Amino acid sequence: MLLTLLAEGSFTLVGRYAPSPTGALHLGNLRTALIGWALARQSGGRFVLRFEDLDARSRGPFRGLQLADLATLGIDWDGEPLVQSKCHSRYEEAFAQLEAEGMVYECYCSRRELSQIASAPHTPPGAYPGHCRDLTPTERAWKREELAARGRGPAFRLRTNEQTLTFTDAVYGQQTGIVDDFVLRRSDGVFSYNFVCVVDDAYQGVNQVCRGRDLLSSVARQNYLHQLLGSTPPTWVHVPLVLNDKGQRLAKRDGAVTLEQLRECGIESAQVIWMFATSLGFPPANTVKEFLAHFDLDHMSREDWRFTAPVPLSAQP
Ligand code: GLU
Ligand code: ZN
Repeated sequence: MLLTLLAEGSFTLVGRYAPSPTGALHLGNLRTALIGWALARQSGGRFVLRFEDLDARSRGPFRGLQLADLATLGIDWDGEPLVQSKCHSRYEEAFAQLEAEGMVYECYCSRRELSQIASAPHTPPGAYPGHCRDLTPTERAWKREELAARGRGPAFRLRTNEQTLTFTDAVYGQQTGIVDDFVLRRSDGVFSYNFVCVVDDAYQGVNQVCRGRDLLSSVARQNYLHQLLGSTPPTWVHVPLVLNDKGQRLAKRDGAVTLEQLRECGIESAQVIWMFATSLGFPPANTVKEFLAHFDLDHMSREDWRFTAPVPLSAQP
């Protein structure tokens, strides 16, 4: 289907990379960005960026740094990166649309209640079982008052009518994921990741999402919301992760994991690309151009890559 459309020249692939600007990009982020970039460029498509910075923790000076990291490797992008903290009215509008359709309800559950609920029998792990879904107006008024007395407000959830949804991932194949009444807007007023991700993928014309496989569990909810908002869901390409030496997802605390730290340890960008290429099962490459020449999603390794980070010189005693 995709190939036919490409052959007819009527379809432009639009891929994206959507980091949270909480610091410099690390090897895991960069490897995912490189695969997304290669997928888009290989088909002559567009590659757009988006900074997911609605959470206060991601409001630092890191956007420029992340752009510089991508550029250092040779990853380029089309147009101006979208910055979510500047897009409030778009989210308000989409939220109002769902509200007007009766698809939104208030949730008064505290974090503690939610963790107790999560362990209840008959609820798939990680799913919200709809505690606040069918409350009467009187019950709602009472709960709202109780929260207000503690200086808090309700969260807002999507009223869904599916429990699971099956989709195909280009790397991990057919998957079935949970569609619960997930949060659209948190009790502090911040719109949720799932909600703004869908609104923005549609707004940016993204038709292929490439990201770490840790987000496979979000696809069913996001597909569902795309349908509800009248947008066509993108195709999904989840990619293996970079792990630390304990087998956990790589993080900043794991040693030298950013380009700058690696450079301090004598590892230059060309070697980083070399590690990416070989860890994904491709022939060695020193530049993203060479990487692109060998890139083939069908033959990409599906295994996570364990990376033992050197200790940066600045952190050595
Ligand atoms: N902002 C997310 C992250 O940095 C990625 C979300 C996505 O690609 O959908 O992990
Ligand atoms: Zn609730």
